[in-house]
Amino acid sequence: MDLLKTLVDKGLRRELPTRDEALAVLATSDDELLDVVAAAGKVRRQWFGRRVKLNYLVNLKSGLCPEDCSYCSQRLGSKADILKYTWLKPEEAAAAAGAGVAGGAKRVCLVASGRGPTDRDVDRVSKTIEAIKQENEGVEVCACLGLLSGGQAERLRTAGADAYNHNLNTAEATYGDICTTHDFSDRVETVKQAQAAGLSACSGLIAGMGESDADLVDVVFALRAMDPDSVPVNFLIPFEGTPLAQEWTLTPQRCLRILAMVRFVCPDVEVRLAGGREIHLRTLQPLALHLANSIFLGDYLTSEGQAGRTDLEMIADAGFEVEGAGTTTLPRHRLDAAAGCGSPEGGCASHDGGCGTHEGGAAADEGACAGHAGGCGPCGEQPAAAAPARTDLVAVRRRGAGTDLAPNA
Ligand code: SF4
Repeated sequence: MDLLKTLVDKGLRRELPTRDEALAVLATSDDELLDVVAAAGKVRRQWFGRRVKLNYLVNLKSGLCPEDCSYCSQRLGSKADILKYTWLKPEEAAAAAGAGVAGGAKRVCLVASGRGPTDRDVDRVSKTIEAIKQENEGVEVCACLGLLSGGQAERLRTAGADAYNHNLNTAEATYGDICTTHDFSDRVETVKQAQAAGLSACSGLIAGMGESDADLVDVVFALRAMDPDSVPVNFLIPFEGTPLAQEWTLTPQRCLRILAMVRFVCPDVEVRLAGGREIHLRTLQPLALHLANSIFLGDYLTSEGQAGRTDLEMIADAGFEVEGAGTTTLPRHRLDAAAGCGSPEGGCASHDGGCGTHEGGAAADEGACAGHAGGCGPCGEQPAAAAPARTDLVAVRRRGAGTDLAPNA
């Protein structure tokens, strides 16, 4: 396929594909899927070898958010039967983080529900960061606290935070369809504040919320323009009790095409396989390691992932290796660029599916041939059957942070 050869060449040169090329990846047929994975896998290996970075989520404050993000189990009016608790104490958060690090995680992601932190919240999180860093030498800490206001990013950086996550989630043009209490530009502004403070920016998307192929390409191109260091790709977790509970439109093949497209558009960036991978990729999860170089270990914020040990076995069985604490994740040129100008360049960069890492979970195929959902266009392939709802696969988190039960790591 000329398309794939072109995309590999561009990825190896860190050159931006055209929008049409990105759309064409999403429109490939199931017969072409392994070729697409192999092609994007070449780009992944060029910049990240066979390493897989493990990240571990600690939900510092769960539920009761005043915002109305429709994909989120913690949203205003959510009827999802999730754990609800207020701020963990620094020592509680540090204990949870320690379990993740012991399980192989290199980065701990500290997430709190809410529109954004108060200055008092930033003090609290600063103490938590210090406690985690004292007990876990060399661990990276990413904060994900929602929309930032003046000076907060700098204070988090001073406290030792390495990164800040705030996802764009979906295309600017359709952002109002998934949230009315803040807008796309608010999110962009927070990512920029984090970058300006010297924090490594992490910002990604949620697929499976009813968006078109064009919307997906739009948000990925918007991410590339912001140039975060890591880009989490969430697949909607359709929680019972949220407005998107009926959105079961993703297939494993669709998820792989989306990941491949993100890899081609953001070739040298940490692409993180995030919330929803277990329920949407299912037995095809190992193929996604050829595209993403980073995953979350164990559980998500309000839902359970597969056992941490199973994650490690999957990585080894697929011929990949867990990235060690002494290894630098990003390619040298990105680090040099960040050191030189304080703002990374040439590529693009997690609340998992929520405010940054606030988990979400799913996407709808439409557009030219949009992966064959809903009729077919130019490729002549038959439409794939709609994905059946697999509500049996969505398990609310009942262990780890905020409970007396051991975390899954
Ligand atoms: S994604 Fe974040 S801001 Fe949005 S409702 Fe969930 S916790 Fe609140």
